[in-house]
Amino acid sequence: MRISEAIALGRTLIQPLAGVHLTGDQTQGCAWGMVQMAAGRDNMQALHIASNRIFLTLPCGCTGNIIKGGMTLGRSTGREALDIAIVHLFNDHVMTKKDWSMEKLIDWLATVEPADPEEVQAEPVKEVVTDEVYSLP
Ligand SMILES: [Zn+2]
Repeated sequence: MRISEAIALGRTLIQPLAGVHLTGDQTQGCAWGMVQMAAGRDNMQALHIASNRIFLTLPCGCTGNIIKGGMTLGRSTGREALDIAIVHLFNDHVMTKKDWSMEKLIDWLATVEPADPEEVQAEPVKEVVTDEVYSLP
């Protein structure tokens, strides 16, 4: 399952709550909590690690002190790892400023997210075959 698919499913399972991964009773949580509810804890962690390796420019254009995990402020140059970008967009834009919808977050994610680890097939080793004949001068 991709992150965007997991959030789309997870948001039907729990209520959105900024700054909290998942409440103890698992009825409310943030975007990553939604991923966990839909995909399971192990898949959520694998997706989290994969998205921590992708750096991109925040699509909202925020720089300086931005809301990150746990609703804490952190410095940003405007480039963040995807896992932090998701946290920022959810906590700040969807839940606080309300200038992004969950649909917009999910649609944006689908354009930048890593493939589902289960979708990725090992690349076959390519054998180079050539009929070219090299002649020495
Ligand atoms: Zn922003």
